[in-house]
Amino acid sequence: MRSKARAGEHSVLTIGDAKLGGEHFALIAGPCTVESRDQTLATAQVVKDAGATLLRGGAYKPRTSPYAFHGLGEAGLRILAEAKAATGLPVVTELMDVRDLGAILEVADVIQIGARNMQNYSLLTEVGRTRRPVMIKRGLSSTIDELLMAAEYVLKEGNERVILCERGIRTFETAYRFTLDLAAVAVLKRLTHLPVVVDPSHAAGRRELVEPLALAAAAAGADGVMVEVHPAPDEAICDGPQALACEDLAALAARLEQVVAITGKRIATAVV
Ligand code: PEP
Ligand code: MN
Repeated sequence: MRSKARAGEHSVLTIGDAKLGGEHFALIAGPCTVESRDQTLATAQVVKDAGATLLRGGAYKPRTSPYAFHGLGEAGLRILAEAKAATGLPVVTELMDVRDLGAILEVADVIQIGARNMQNYSLLTEVGRTRRPVMIKRGLSSTIDELLMAAEYVLKEGNERVILCERGIRTFETAYRFTLDLAAVAVLKRLTHLPVVVDPSHAAGRRELVEPLALAAAAAGADGVMVEVHPAPDEAICDGPQALACEDLAALAARLEQVVAITGKRIATAVV
């Protein structure tokens, strides 16, 4: 069977009032985890004020320890819906279990398939049967070919609105959380028409590395970056060390805009 990846083409997705791909660079920002209404609504306002494209935030969280906080679930989705209504920002949120698909579809403008589920083929097939944009994060130890095959599972079902996300891979290096593979961006852009975004937060694991990696991703031709932001990073329940403080997001957006410009793109704002 032939692959549905079209080399040499670049697709543009419409997500709510925003566009992603082509000349439209997406700044996706928000908390790792929806922890509370106040934390999420405050962050969403900062994300909007920074001119971001999409709001991120997890209601269902994949955690290494089964004893850790796994998200607010449906209550978290309701908070995301409120943040979306308040800001007009389209929402990206993770689906971990197909039993939650109905609830996620009520809120998500983009369904995130996390790195740990990149090869969950039944989950990929189910989101492929929807027509909602799907962001697939590269598995911790997955090859580019495996990422492309994960995308094929969604495309095969007729859902053409797929976004690929490079978020760092496991290597021998321990100086940061994962190794951000920016060559993957250049390679994926050649192999497929699908937009490619980069998550520097999970790759870095440390907030001081997020900006340089985000700028490098933009320079490498990424169609967007996704960063974690928190009003009080030191108090975050999950991924605090890599979260930007809310007051740092606007500065990142301004520097990003400059790098994005040299690649012939602009940060796409959802709210006109
Ligand atoms: C996330 O985006 O919060 C997340 C859990 O990412 P990943 O699946 O890349 O680890
Ligand atoms: Mn996280």
